[in-house]
Amino acid sequence: MIVFDIQLKNIPRVGEKYAKKLEKMHIQTVRDLLFHFPFRYDDYSLISSIAELRSGETFTVMGIIRSSRTQRTWKRKMFITEIELSDETGSVKAVWFNQSYLADQLIEGKTVRLSGKISAKKDALCFSNPSWERAERDPTNTGRLVPVYQETEGLTSRWLRWQIQLLLKNIKLPEDPIPADTLKKMNLPTLEKALHSIHFPRNLNQALVAQKRFAFQEMLLLQIQSLRIKELWAKEKAISIPSDEKMMKKFVDGLPFRLTSAQKKSAFEIHRDLEKDRPMNRLLNGDVGSGKTVVAAIAALGAINKDYQVAIMAPTEVLARQHFDSFCKLFENIDINIALLTGAYKLIHGHSSQGEGSKVNGNKILHSTKNDKKNDLIRSIKAGESNLIIGTHALIQEGVRFKNLALIIVDEQHRFGVSQRAYLQQKATEINDGLAGKIPHFLTMTATPIPRTLALAFFGNLDLSVIDEMPNGRKKIITKIVPPSGRNQVYQFIKNEIKNGRQCYVILPLVEESKVLTEVKAATEERERLAKDIFPELKLGLIHGKLKAKDKEKVMHDFKIGKLDILVATAVVEVGVDVPNTTVMIIEDADRFGLAQLHQFRGRIGRGEHQSYCFLFSNSSSKDSKARLKALVESEDGFKIAEKDLELRGPGEFLGTRQSGLPDIAMENINNVRLIKIAREEAQEIMEKDPGLKKHPLLLKELDKFNQEIHME
Ligand code: ADP
Ligand code: MG
Repeated sequence: MIVFDIQLKNIPRVGEKYAKKLEKMHIQTVRDLLFHFPFRYDDYSLISSIAELRSGETFTVMGIIRSSRTQRTWKRKMFITEIELSDETGSVKAVWFNQSYLADQLIEGKTVRLSGKISAKKDALCFSNPSWERAERDPTNTGRLVPVYQETEGLTSRWLRWQIQLLLKNIKLPEDPIPADTLKKMNLPTLEKALHSIHFPRNLNQALVAQKRFAFQEMLLLQIQSLRIKELWAKEKAISIPSDEKMMKKFVDGLPFRLTSAQKKSAFEIHRDLEKDRPMNRLLNGDVGSGKTVVAAIAALGAINKDYQVAIMAPTEVLARQHFDSFCKLFENIDINIALLTGAYKLIHGHSSQGEGSKVNGNKILHSTKNDKKNDLIRSIKAGESNLIIGTHALIQEGVRFKNLALIIVDEQHRFGVSQRAYLQQKATEINDGLAGKIPHFLTMTATPIPRTLALAFFGNLDLSVIDEMPNGRKKIITKIVPPSGRNQVYQFIKNEIKNGRQCYVILPLVEESKVLTEVKAATEERERLAKDIFPELKLGLIHGKLKAKDKEKVMHDFKIGKLDILVATAVVEVGVDVPNTTVMIIEDADRFGLAQLHQFRGRIGRGEHQSYCFLFSNSSSKDSKARLKALVESEDGFKIAEKDLELRGPGEFLGTRQSGLPDIAMENINNVRLIKIAREEAQEIMEKDPGLKKHPLLLKELDKFNQEIHME
């Protein structure tokens, strides 16, 4: 009896040779092969009579072989097998190339089925390289919906069909990992039925329902997995930080603006979490410019007010520096010590506006700039004199110790790039001297919105706060797609804006990591071209990924204080910068970016009082890329744009990497909100009734397998 776990190389019909080939496609066990699903089906289900055949279309016929011969052509050294097939309505030719073994198979007098495309050869109709099989066989390669698989050298769909069909006949399947009740409720087929119908469906609908079942299975596993992580997390201890509502109110009332209700709600949710004695693990999901910083500040203040330390981590030094500036401003009337600690602190920041140890509105700012100061800073963090410590991820890694770190806030750069989250939490616990055994609360801020379905599917282990509302009074950014002919007009427009005191970004397309040097060269050349040929009277700066941190900071600083009119930047450069006087952005080769990323770039303008403009340069005349860019012209709602991006490019691209590891079949269904929701509810129910999955051994087993393939954060 064949079971799931058997290695294919131990199955005689497969043998070593084929097992090796299968291994190239990561197929090793019977289970793997049965889960190698077809990517399409050829519809050969209808059997036609030979008289009905027409050139250019696909047909299936059944008939008797009247003649058959295999020859070798001398010129091209190729085997040609040619047969004549007839039924009661007529006869037709069929040819195969280079399949000499057919000579023994397609012999006169046998009845066979052929499926394939018909062409006309010298007025006679002919099948070339059709799919075929003997009529007494169950329809597998002809006469049905025929599965087509991803193939590799020497492994054809025909071979795979044959193997899979035999396996399905002889296998003793394990019990269904999805509980029977759940299947019934969802109207989904059992494992056995679904396996049969995903490979050999009677009709397309049957295949679709089977696909849905397997997608659901993956979703269910993903959800169970995130619930388990969540549960483990819930067992950990954290410091409970009671909210001081009076103090909060005073802070909020002192802000130069009124919070949006989404900001209030998020701040409230965070404070409820901080009050608990188990660690918060929350994602603050909001668009660029939606005001996540002030929400983070409210969270931080809660902890600092009770004399705990808070760390804020930014993805880059420029952004850390910017957070430092923002928080100094937000807390200018509150007596707390804010420290900026970055990996480049060994370098001298020649233009540090505050200077270390200087007093700003009674608010002592510690800013490490030199090596000797670094020790001061590290001492003050260890002693608990620094309340709010801002830096890059290096903050946790470089031998810094805290007195009592109660809250970590991480500003993400790449939406899904913080696989370090767990690591950071773990590490933070180890260097937290005064709070032994307690895990800091954790707040992650997204750089750009994540559609809810995706957040649910992939971040089920996190709690979610969504800022889906922009602060009042934002000016609409005028966005235009510019064909090559419109370039000069835009340059003229920029000159005017700059004459009126505004500034401009020029964003250059992303080049692959391996070609960073090419990118630097291209960016340098473009800056020179613009400076020489287009804007000789203006001051242009350049920022790219290979620039040293201190040089980057210098350029950013010069741009910020208006020393530069135009900043040319490659896409790898941090775009989190905030220069409200910049009103124009050009994005070169815009069609090469994803929508969500373009939207994120655009979020860098429209931050001040002046009308802003975003010009999307595109040389592409493809309909698709035009439609994509149009979505950006029409909407400024980051969540909508992200959803559109997801829809157009699929989750693999949208996630930025293909590393999520989820099988394609689940990924294709990731937009299926209902499926994800139900999977989540089911997972909750299962976990409530049977937290250890003792009554669901198969689920547990599949989960192990799943975990080997998929690494959640
Ligand atoms: P992001 O969510 O991209 O981090 P920020 O927190 O940087 O956004 O906020 C963008 C800008 O909006 C900042 O200048 C901030 O002061 C301002 N802002 C935040 N909340 C509000 C609000 N409720 N009303 C008006 N302006 C706000
Ligand atoms: Mg921000």
